Amino acid sequence: MLVSFRVGLFGGTFDPPHVGHLVTAVNVRYALHLDLVVLMVANEPWQKAGARAITPAEHRFSMVEAAVADVPGLVAGRTEIDHGGPSFTADTLAALALQHPGATLFTIVGDDAAAGFETWDRYDEVARRSQLVVVDRPGIPVELPDGFAWTRVEVPRLEVSSTDLRDRARDGRPLDYLVTEPVLDVIARLGLYREDL
Ligand code: ATP
Ligand code: MG
Repeated sequence: MLVSFRVGLFGGTFDPPHVGHLVTAVNVRYALHLDLVVLMVANEPWQKAGARAITPAEHRFSMVEAAVADVPGLVAGRTEIDHGGPSFTADTLAALALQHPGATLFTIVGDDAAAGFETWDRYDEVARRSQLVVVDRPGIPVELPDGFAWTRVEVPRLEVSSTDLRDRARDGRPLDYLVTEPVLDVIARLGLYREDL
């Protein structure tokens, strides 16, 4: 029997990537028998633009690359960066389908992102091109948009967010164990998230 290649698309701003992202990617890969999970770095997260300064995409990519370097089956994706402009998951899935002909695609999101699924550009196309996978984040359970076949995967709930990490870094509080050491090294090397920048 020919079994198709299974690829998970886990998109994010990853500003910075943290253990919540990694634990999610590794456990969804395991639970759904995915060959690959692509942590896709958003070029311009258009839903976040304007609200705050976003770290340059190449720097975020460097952090994600460092985060997944030694993790089997996880890769950093730069399709959206190379495409340029705002990042739309529907387009990224089309690109992944070309890169992996015949593959079964999965779109992986935390429940906060799932709650806003219908605000995504061409969300119907996303649902057509991929199986939708959702993981719970700590906090108040959110209602998932109706009419989609969500697959829920249980992963350890880690109360970590990039927003909190940026605040910590700015205050000089430690990021240790919330991001992996290779990511800490990139943050230090590039001088990211310092109050004086
Ligand atoms: P920010 O606070 O800047 O929004 P974030 O921590 O939410 O950052 P994102 O880059 O926005 O990280 O999220 C990318 C994806 O990872 C989203 O689908 C989000 O729901 C999911 N995610 C983020 N943190 C966690 C976590 N701790 N557990 C599970 N999923 C998470
Ligand atoms: Mg977020």
